[in-house]
Amino acid sequence: MGDETIFGRILSGAIPCDEVYSDEKCLAFRDIEPQAPVHILVIPRRRLSSLKDAMTEDAELLGHLLLVASLVANQEGLDDWRTIINTGEGAGQTVFHLHLHVIGGRPLTWPPG
Ligand code: AMP
Repeated sequence: MGDETIFGRILSGAIPCDEVYSDEKCLAFRDIEPQAPVHILVIPRRRLSSLKDAMTEDAELLGHLLLVASLVANQEGLDDWRTIINTGEGAGQTVFHLHLHVIGGRPLTWPPG
């Protein structure tokens, strides 16, 4: 599936992260370049390069990631937040290991840029 990404190295413990949640299926940690007071990434332990690669058998995992996004938002005390998945370079994806951004703690305008 190609070279390991920076998130693969975080999962293996090769580089540190500011972890906020962990279970057998996923890890959540603070984004190194936060775009808001709360900016957390939720990633599956099993690598999918992007949402484009998700198959029917990934449905349970994808649902789990969304529930964890909600859990960490709640953990951070957020009432309102945005969950974002950038898919493909043209949409701003820079790390090709599926991840959900959880962004909040400031007013969020729509549409995003
Ligand atoms: P995307 O642009 O959707 O692929 O998001 C990748 C995100 O990963 C960006 O918001 C980066 O700031 C973040 N990021 C990259 N390297 C790290 C790291 N070592 N620890 C935490 N977040 C990172």
